[in-house]
Parts: sequence; C-alpha cells; structure tokens
Amino acid sequence: MLLQMGEKLHIVFNEDGYTYGNCVLIDDDIRVVIDSGAGRELAKVQPENVDILINTHHHYDHVRDNKLFTRAQVLLHPVECISIKSIEKVMAIEGWKELMHEDLYGQEPQTKAVEDPYSINEEWRVDGEINDGQVIDCGSTKFVVLHTPGHSKGHCAFYFPDEDLAFLGDICLTKVGPWYGEAHTDPGELIASIDRIIELNPAAVVTSHVNRVFTNPRPALSEYRDRILKREQRILKQLRESPQTIDQLAAKRLIYREHPYLPVLFWEKSMLRNHLERLVKLGLAEEVEEGVFKAV
Ligand SMILES: [Zn+2]
Repeated sequence: MLLQMGEKLHIVFNEDGYTYGNCVLIDDDIRVVIDSGAGRELAKVQPENVDILINTHHHYDHVRDNKLFTRAQVLLHPVECISIKSIEKVMAIEGWKELMHEDLYGQEPQTKAVEDPYSINEEWRVDGEINDGQVIDCGSTKFVVLHTPGHSKGHCAFYFPDEDLAFLGDICLTKVGPWYGEAHTDPGELIASIDRIIELNPAAVVTSHVNRVFTNPRPALSEYRDRILKREQRILKQLRESPQTIDQLAAKRLIYREHPYLPVLFWEKSMLRNHLERLVKLGLAEEVEEGVFKAV
C-alpha cells in the first residue's frame, strides 16, 4: 500500500512480512527511493525510473531488490558500503560458527527463517555515500540524513523537515525489537541513536517493519529504548547469582522469549556478547576465565 505523507512523499508499506520491509518514495523532480525490500508493492515505485536509491543499511530485507533499480545511483553510509559486500553481514549471521559451535551448513531445515545465504550470489552495486547531516534535495522535497548506529554500524534514518516526519528504518518499534546483534557493536550506540530521535521529536515516524504511522512517537521510542536496559538488567541479575557463559545465559532466554529457529538463538547469543562487552567496558562485569562472566 502506498500512503501519501506529503505533496511528493509516500510510504510504501510491504505486504509480504518477514524478510521484507517498508520503503519510502519521493516522487519529485529527482525520484528517490529509500530501501528496496517492499516485495510485491515495490512495483508501485517503478524502480526502473528511479534516479537515486538509498539504503538505510546493508541487511537483506532492505537491499533485496536493489537490482531492479537499473539506472539509479545507489547510495549508503560509508560503513555500509563495506558491509554490503559481505554475505554474512547482509544475512546477519556474521560469527555464526564462533557462537553456535558449528557451521551453518547442514542446518537447513531450521534456518529457513533466514533465506539460505549460500544460494545468494548477488553483488550489490554501490555508487556513492551518504553522511550524517547531509541534505538531499529532490526538488520541492528535502530531507536530512541522520547516522543512527547501533542496529548496524552505518545505519541511517531520514528526517523530512517540511512534513516533520522521520523514517527510522530498523529502529523498528516492533514488539520483538530492538535488534543489535552485529558483531562487537555497543548497545549503548543504539540507545544514543534512539535518544537522538527522541530529542529531534518529530511529529510522526514510520519504520521498516510496522505498517502504520506513529504520531507523537516519543513514548513508543522511550519504551523501545528502555527494553535494551531491561535486557541488560536481566543479564546483570544472572551474573550476580553465578558466573556464566554466553551459552548458559542464552538458555535462559533473557532477550527472546522463544527460540523457534536457530537464527533466533544465534541472535540471542550475539546480542548477549555485545551486552557483556559493554558491561565489562562499564566496569559492571568481568571475564573471570575465558568466556565466563560475573558481575563486579
Ligand atoms: Zn536490519
């Protein structure tokens, strides 16, 4: 569904669910689209007639149909320009073997929630960069690039001042979020990025994975940010009771209530690792022997 949010500004809500995502169309003198994951709905933006395609970040559900934008310039944050070249990063399975103690090969039936990365041989084209604070002028519509790291290191959100609207990508405001399982990223970065949006205080926000407009989004954003801190408190509580490994903590499902697919268990572990790295840095936890953590 295409929802008009300004004279030239439209949100493309996807109707295909998991591994797809919402997009933005600026149907102006310069035709700009943000992300390419809208599945069947993407035809409505006429990808072949788009001048600039911007990706919020490198994950598959945001770049999956970049190839349809045959004559567009493809722009990403400089960090994402590197990440998009790694299939493990695109599929959010970087470091699988280290945390899961086995190769992803041979796990097929359970990993179907994530499309088989080894069947994707795509080379995603990159033509240029976007950077924090940059203003993109499409004619009558202008918008600002906000570098909002945490979900991925180069993740960007976009602010449309005339409409007082922000497109937040994977600051997704879904019930299962936020996700910050990229290898060795600090969950504190995501907290700071969400705080930046709260301070900006747009009248409305749209995200990649909820099919509605959030008006007066401050309470929803605060609650979403606080989930990160609540997860961290649950981890600390465990570490106060006894020294534990990532595997032991993961079995307690402190982040996801269920692990219906192996990737969810992997993401639980990768986010635990990132929390533990942050807790050690903050002096709230220590590694007492290799891979075993306790509260300080
Ligand atoms: Zn993502």
